[in-house]
Amino acid sequence: MYTLIDLPYTPDALEPVISARTLEFHHGKHLQAYVDNLNKLVAGTELEGMALEEIVVRASLDLADRHARLDRASQAIFNNAGQVLNHELYFTQFAPQPSCSAPTVVMPGPTGHLAKQIEKQWGSVEAFKADFEAKGVGLFGSGWVWLQANEAGELSIGQYANADNPVAHGLRPILTFDVWEHAYYLDYQNRRAAHLSALWQIVDWKVVEERYAK
Ligand code: MN
Repeated sequence: MYTLIDLPYTPDALEPVISARTLEFHHGKHLQAYVDNLNKLVAGTELEGMALEEIVVRASLDLADRHARLDRASQAIFNNAGQVLNHELYFTQFAPQPSCSAPTVVMPGPTGHLAKQIEKQWGSVEAFKADFEAKGVGLFGSGWVWLQANEAGELSIGQYANADNPVAHGLRPILTFDVWEHAYYLDYQNRRAAHLSALWQIVDWKVVEERYAK
C-alpha cells in the first residue's frame, strides 16, 4: 500500500507563497487521489509493493512498446505513480521562509557542488532561475519543469507534460516546480509566472543539494 506522505511543515508554513488552502487541496485532495488510484491499479499485479521509481520506469517501457497489450493500463499506472513520485519530490523540497522580523536576511541559494555546476552551465544562479522560470511558463498545459542530472552530473532543465518526469528518461530529479493549475490557481489564478518566481523564496536548497550529491 502506498500512503500519503506527511508534509514536513504545517499547512500555513509556506504562506504567502503557497497558502494553507492551496496546500490542503493540493496535498490532501489531489495527491491523496493519486495515491488511492495507484493502490487500486496495482492491487494484485506484479507491480504491487514496488518502489515508485521502478513502477514509473516499467510503465514507461511498456508505453514505449506500441504493441504492448497493457497500453491503457500502463498509461494509468504511469500517470498515477508518476504523480505520486512527482508530488513527493515537490512537497519535500520546500521549507518555511526565514522570519520577516530579520530584514537583512538573504534568501539562501545553492552552495557546494550544485552551485558550482549551475554557475559553470548557466553563468550564475540568477541566470539559471530565469531559464527555469521561463521553461515553466512556456510549458503548454499541465506538467512539471525539472532540474535534472545525468550520470556525469551534468544538469539540464526538463519540461514534461502531465505526470512525466526525469526518472522515465534515465535522469535524476533534483528540483521541480508543478505547473498544473491546481498548484497555484487559488492563490495566483492565471498568473503562473508570478507563482513560479515566488517559489524560490521557499526552496529548501539543503534538500535539493542532497539530491544532487547522491
Ligand atoms: Mn500537483
